[in-house]
Order: sequence, then structure tokens, then C-alpha cells
Amino acid sequence: MTDTPSNTPSSTPSPLDNVRIVLVNTTHPGNIGAVARAMKNMGLSKLYLVEPKNYPDEVAYYRAVSAQDVLNDAVITSTLEEAIADCGLVVGTSARGRRIPWPLLNPRTCAEQAYPELSQHPVAIVFGREDRGLTNDELQCCNLHVHIPTNEDYSSLNLAMAVQVLSYEMRMAHLSADEQRQAEMLSTDPMKEWDAPLSKSADMERFFVHLESTLRNMGFLKPSAPKQLMTRLRRLFTRTRMDELEVNMMRGVLTSAQRWVEKAGGPEPENQDKS
Ligand code: SAH
Repeated sequence: MTDTPSNTPSSTPSPLDNVRIVLVNTTHPGNIGAVARAMKNMGLSKLYLVEPKNYPDEVAYYRAVSAQDVLNDAVITSTLEEAIADCGLVVGTSARGRRIPWPLLNPRTCAEQAYPELSQHPVAIVFGREDRGLTNDELQCCNLHVHIPTNEDYSSLNLAMAVQVLSYEMRMAHLSADEQRQAEMLSTDPMKEWDAPLSKSADMERFFVHLESTLRNMGFLKPSAPKQLMTRLRRLFTRTRMDELEVNMMRGVLTSAQRWVEKAGGPEPENQDKS
């Protein structure tokens, strides 16, 4: 194609990478450039050109503006069959009704139906020629047909604008799926994947009794002036939601502290502290 370097940023894969925009026999290279721009604006990158006329052309690059990477990566094929061979779902777009009715959707319902399939296989959206659209044979290669519900007196959009509408709806489906995923992640219990069971209330009560007696032995908790110490320590430890291993570990620490107090001959007399 051209020497223009590809400036596709390396990013994490997105389901939108599996959306394939297929343009059949496009006449005006400017439309191809405008399609690339419309796609990139919506986060799409896979463009297939079936026998484009007058392409490559600098007008296409001019109209693509900052989406020249989409043009550089575009795949050119000589038949529609080649362009859609590995797609699990093929959607044909049409500005007018055809003689043989096909399952017909609007861009929104199309995106809702197609988006979940993007995790399994590429999904093609096929666009026709500027003057004649897609032939009946080409439309019959498609699983679904999409019509943008336009003014009946003038139903035909410019090719790139039709691509824009379909790409926008794909993006909206992607954003709402993303929102849903985030809401699900937030509602997941953060302790679900924990490696030890959470302590039970009785374990905690035994721990608090042990803690209190150890603090007394150490002389840190003065029976004559307990203040709010145990209440605050209870609040601290209930807030952390210790698991069974952590409670056992803390009990070990307390037992060890008690031994040290015993070795040292017991707590300091209470009156020394008052000085
Ligand atoms: N004169 C042609 C229209 C071609 S417009 C015809 O009557 O079919 C070029 C392409 O843009 C179409 O093939 C189709 O892919 C897309 N397009 C334009 N208007 C559309 C609409 N209202 N709904 C769906 N696709 C549309």
C-alpha cells in the first residue's frame, strides 16, 4: 500500500478487535479514508476492502486524518467470500428493502445481538457500493440484514456515515457491557478467594479474653483505669475481620508475651506508673 508508518498503539485486546468492517467495490477513495476515521473514532481497527476502485490513493490518506494506521493494516481481497471466510456472523447493510425478506435489524439491535459473539469469532459488517449498494447474491451471504431507519423519502446515507452509525452502536454495546462487568466486579465478595476461613465469633471472644489478660499481665491495662482500651481494641480487630490462621497467630504472640512477663517477674506495680 503506502510507506506511511503504522502508528497503532499496542494496547490490551478488546472485543471490538473482532469487528470487521468490509467495504465492497468502493468507488471513491475519500470514502475509504472517511470510513477508517469513523472506525478508529469508535475503537474499531479491522478494515477489509473487496476490490476497491482507485485504491490506494492519497485522498484516502487525507480523509483518514489520524486513522492512517487503519488504512495501512487494511486487507484487500478480490472476493467477498475471502473477506468473510473466517467470520462466525456476517451482517449485511442495506439502504432499501429487498424482494426476499431476511432477518432485519436496526443498528442498535444488531449491536446487542452481535456484541456477545465477539468473544468467539470475528463478526463482519458488510457495506455496499456507493451507487448500487450490495447485490442480492452478496446480501444472501449474510446471516442478518441491517437497515438504518432513515427518512423514507431519502434513505441512502453516505457510505462512511453508515459505517459511523453501525460502529457507534457497537461501541455503545461495548461500553454498556464494560459497565456491567465493573458492577459485577464491585458486587463480588472480596473475601471469596481467601486462603483461610474467616474467624468465628467464638474464636474472636476467646482472643479478646486472651488479649485482655495478657495486657493486664504486662501492666499495660490498669484495672483501676481501663478507660476505653478494650473497646477500641475490639473495634480495631473486628474491623480487620481476621481469618482463623491470623487469630491463631495472634494467640501465639500473646502466649509468648505472657511467658516473657512471667520470666520478668510479673507486671510493674500499678503505683509506679502514677509518678
Ligand atoms: N444506492 C444504494 C445505496 C448505497 S449507499 C442503494 O440503494 O442500495 C452505500 C452503502 O451504505 C450501502 O450499500 C449500505 O452499505 C450503506 N447504507 C447507506 N444507507 C444505509 C441505510 N439507511 N441503512 C443501512 N445501510 C446503509
